[in-house]
Amino acid sequence: MEPSPIRQVKPKAEGWEQRKDAQGRPLLQFSSPKRGKPPVHLADLTPEERIAKAKELGLPGFRAKQLAKHYFDRWTRDPEKMTDLPKEGRAELVAGMLPNLLTEVRRMQTDGGETIKFLWKLHDGALVESVLMRYPGRITLCVSSQAGCGMNCPFCATGQNGLTRNMSAAEIVDQIVRANEIIAAGELGGKREGDNSAERVSNIVFMGMGEPLANYARVMQAIRVMIDKQQGLGMSARGITVSTVGLAPAIRKLTEEDIPVTFALSLHAPDDTLRDEMIPVNSRWKVDEVLDAARAYFDKTGRRVSIEYALIKNMNDHPWRAELLADRLLERGKGWVHVNPIPLNPTPGSVWDASTIPAQREFVRILNDRGIPTTIRDTRGKEIDGACGQLVVTEEDERAAALPA
Ligand code: SAH
Repeated sequence: MEPSPIRQVKPKAEGWEQRKDAQGRPLLQFSSPKRGKPPVHLADLTPEERIAKAKELGLPGFRAKQLAKHYFDRWTRDPEKMTDLPKEGRAELVAGMLPNLLTEVRRMQTDGGETIKFLWKLHDGALVESVLMRYPGRITLCVSSQAGCGMNCPFCATGQNGLTRNMSAAEIVDQIVRANEIIAAGELGGKREGDNSAERVSNIVFMGMGEPLANYARVMQAIRVMIDKQQGLGMSARGITVSTVGLAPAIRKLTEEDIPVTFALSLHAPDDTLRDEMIPVNSRWKVDEVLDAARAYFDKTGRRVSIEYALIKNMNDHPWRAELLADRLLERGKGWVHVNPIPLNPTPGSVWDASTIPAQREFVRILNDRGIPTTIRDTRGKEIDGACGQLVVTEEDERAAALPA
């Protein structure tokens, strides 16, 4: 297929400069800058380690299990409410095992209160966001796994601000527990009148700030806690989506974990020429290698992989690229993958636009005609800068965070 004559707009523009490393390549940050570690929390620990920690705090090990019930099933962190624990030592136990990790700074709402974006302050002042969304029959939380992101993708607001630090497993999990607490208090809009059912977050997407596979061990611990039925949140692994920019070795490691989470690959271009420009990490792991890793994920778990593709006008939305994408997916078989194009969301100072509606339709049609299930993803929260790629700490956020709580 011949490249289209349409000029390919490269991610270069006046007034915008990508951060570069000493060799002049787009800067990639894999290791977390050193900062004070967040306090250790029950959700950072395995059940055995929790028992040891309770003993360290001078209480019998089984108290750890009771505390886990309060935190994971009732979303309680208030010692006053934990009347099954002896009064003596209760406050110390709670302070020692359920330290406060997230302080709410701001909350923004849209969709009649059915979408809420939270800005959280971490113990060291780092700021992160999560987005809570009610859909018919499910409640989804988009969680952050890092404060900032080191992957430097030019069209993503988070990537443009660099990596502040990795989040701990408990900081990741606490976003869910706090959301559950808020839902239980009736603060998420859209619940039908007369519906008295207990509600909680049912689906998790790792599409907030950060590259989850660059914070692998902590993200995996968080996932283990999410799916632990006895001493965790008891969520279904299928309802958890891990989205990555394509760190191939980490995708292979995830495959070996044999936890059937939903896997999403942010591909955005089927050819290395363009993907090198759009996704700096493509300099390490090329399209073929990440697609092979994604296919192997399907083989091992039987879970259909999603390919994310932000449609950017005249950049990656050409019909010939849709054909090329189809070729590359079909080379690896049928029925293992579906494609989720997302019209580009605007980001501060962005020089690119979303594809036109006809271009979007044509892109989808080509893939569907080739037998690849493709649906445009509706992204929520654009009005509050809460949609994919828009999460970033603004000056206003910094100001709000500096105010006394
Ligand atoms: N780092 C992970 C997860 C965070 S981003 C990843 O890259 O997959 C979640 C999704 O939003 C990714 O598919 C990402 O490519 C996409 N995204 C980033 N910026 C966007 C933008 N401006 N418009 C639409 N989608 C965007």
